[in-house]
Amino acid sequence: MSDYVLRTNQLSKEYGGHNALDHVDLSIRRGSIYGFIGQNGAGKSTLMRIVTGLAFPTSGSIELFGKSGAQEIMGARSRIGTTIESPALFPFMTAYENMEVQRLQKGIRDKEAIEETLAMVGLQETGRKLAGDFSLGMKQRLDLAIALLGQPEFLILDEPTNGLDPMSVVELRGLLKRLNRESGITILISSHILSELHLLATHYGIIHQGKLLEQLTLKELSGKCRQYLHIKVDDSGRAAEVMRRELEGAEFKVMPDGIIRLFNPVEHPGKISSMLAASGLEIEQFTPTGEHLESYFVQRIAGCGA
Ligand code: ATP
Repeated sequence: MSDYVLRTNQLSKEYGGHNALDHVDLSIRRGSIYGFIGQNGAGKSTLMRIVTGLAFPTSGSIELFGKSGAQEIMGARSRIGTTIESPALFPFMTAYENMEVQRLQKGIRDKEAIEETLAMVGLQETGRKLAGDFSLGMKQRLDLAIALLGQPEFLILDEPTNGLDPMSVVELRGLLKRLNRESGITILISSHILSELHLLATHYGIIHQGKLLEQLTLKELSGKCRQYLHIKVDDSGRAAEVMRRELEGAEFKVMPDGIIRLFNPVEHPGKISSMLAASGLEIEQFTPTGEHLESYFVQRIAGCGA
């Protein structure tokens, strides 16, 4: 069994002379949650559409569950669940009835799969309520339930949090984590909400203008997102003087709102706060913090002249 559910080899897609994907070598390990990051038009959907068979590459190839022949890839696609171009929900039908239509279309014999899948996404109690009366979050969950019919091993989700309120985003995150942990489903997910991805994904791929700039694990990302102490005192100018004088090699930035970010040293925050207090400064906030995925992403693509 391949360790990877997906590998692309020099995958390229041209639209009228424009490279939507440019020689992309991406790999997604079985059991991971792969956060796909890129600005609008970076090429995320194009890659997902090629993998799900909705578009063809101009050159290069893909390997799905270790299969690379055209026929084998077609077969392997039945192991993918996706909400890309998911079928329109029938507004005058209940969640169960919508699922029943999809079950018949997908040729799934097991009727119980419907109840089980609706329970997985938390829609088992919707009874006679019609899909047309669902909230956006519920509709998204029904889309997801349809994608999960047939017990896919690999879920591909393009911006699934688009348009969701913060509560629904949190719920979706919990659901995806559960599907990954309890059912072992590998997930490829793109999102504009990078802070959300950071709480979910175990692996990351950064794409920019069709080129895959970097792939990294959560651990590698955490190493690159710099840690700092977030400090707010009554007099940031004086605190800066004290830090320069007392902390050897101090590296810090005073932000426009007077907040100080102390990047180095950060190892002994207790000693630093005591030192500031001993200099007569009143400490209002003092928190060890990590730079976010956003900062890393911005810095990474800025290097490409974006
Ligand atoms: P978004 O987050 O906005 O969906 P994306 O990263 O998914 O962005 P893609 O939709 O893959 O980006 O688009 C990549 C590039 O390919 C863009 O420049 C887009 O305009 C172009 N493109 C995508 N589909 C087509 C198409 N069918 N015909 C022509 N150009 C296309």
